Amino acid sequence: MEKYIKQLVTKSCANFIDGKCILSDKECPLLVGGEYRGKKITAKDCSCTYFEKAVLPAVKTLEAVYYGKETVLNKTCKGCGKGFSSVSNRAVYCSEICKRSARKSTHIKYNQKRAK
Ligand SMILES: [Zn+2]
Repeated sequence: MEKYIKQLVTKSCANFIDGKCILSDKECPLLVGGEYRGKKITAKDCSCTYFEKAVLPAVKTLEAVYYGKETVLNKTCKGCGKGFSSVSNRAVYCSEICKRSARKSTHIKYNQKRAK
């Protein structure tokens, strides 16, 4: 995703000219990273007020990524089949509701089997 931020800078930032930020007269920190009090900062951890205000809002999805609000849908719910995100390996349902209704339906199946 960081790649898309970089693409957006190179394509859309008005201050990005010939590989440099004309505001700071340096390479864009969003592309190459920067330095803060002698410490190296990766491009991912850099921010640019101009970029945030003028460039980023045009692309809502990227905006979410930039601010770390992006949720990676790394799981598929066993209940409703929708994608959801979870850090837990054991999570198989997207919500308590799915969990509960799934439990219910297995319960029903179980009872139906017994009824036969
Ligand atoms: Zn679900």
